[in-house]
Amino acid sequence: MSKTIFQKIIDREIPAKLAHEDEFCIAIHDIDPKAPVHVLIIPKKLIPRVGAATAADQATLGHLLLTAAALAKKLGIAESGYRIVINNGRDGGETVPHLHVHLLGQRPLAWPPG
Ligand code: AMP
Repeated sequence: MSKTIFQKIIDREIPAKLAHEDEFCIAIHDIDPKAPVHVLIIPKKLIPRVGAATAADQATLGHLLLTAAALAKKLGIAESGYRIVINNGRDGGETVPHLHVHLLGQRPLAWPPG
């Protein structure tokens, strides 16, 4: 299977603007931001989408959310508020089959989403 764009970023084959990295995940600024803050938190383990995660991925999934909350603080949007999004499958708007958590903020976000 060919590498996803996110795997290539994790492997430093293509550049990205890094917001965070640790043993389990990497966070990058989205190349086409939908809000002034738009960061993607991506597990280093290739899990295609949340629907493909297993019980073995429980700690990784929790880590992604805790990292998103920590990044919200670091990026100054914890007080004003933010949204965490995971797109799953065609109707969910998933375009890259490598699980990633979107962290969006620094503007009011409409509800319901489009
Ligand atoms: P999704 O539609 O949920 O699969 O989200 C994929 C996201 O990856 C989109 O918001 C894209 O703008 C973003 N994206 C695609 N390629 C890159 C890249 N090379 N660097 C940073 N973000 C990217």
